[in-house]
Amino acid sequence: MITPKVNTLNEFFDKNLKKGVIDFKLRAQYDEVFDSITFYIHPDGIDGATYDFSVIQNRLVSLPRDSGIGDLNAKDDIYSIQHDVCPKCGSQSIGTTLVGYIMPQKLADYKDMNDAWCEDCDWKGEYHDLVDEESD
Ligand SMILES: [Zn+2]
Repeated sequence: MITPKVNTLNEFFDKNLKKGVIDFKLRAQYDEVFDSITFYIHPDGIDGATYDFSVIQNRLVSLPRDSGIGDLNAKDDIYSIQHDVCPKCGSQSIGTTLVGYIMPQKLADYKDMNDAWCEDCDWKGEYHDLVDEESD
């Protein structure tokens, strides 16, 4: 399996700023496949590479441009950002079993049913019950 190159927003800005490019065009939308806000950014009015990202709670996941809508690495990254803390105490010290579940076309349909438990309180449940760091 070929792992698509991961582009960072820093790399995008570095490349463009070195060329004197400081204006950009950005288009954002809710993307059903990734169950998150995605955006692409491109130098405004000139030729240059377009980079695609998903943004979740102020964190970015790079979406390789040519990977198609089914990109598994990106979906995994987004899912783990959306499910990374204990729903009871907010701790990130989470233990989990490691069964692999099939990723469906739309991330919103995915449910990681591995057993999960908090190392800092007595919470036990499924990985899917974990919440986003910044949610209440
Ligand atoms: Zn906890």
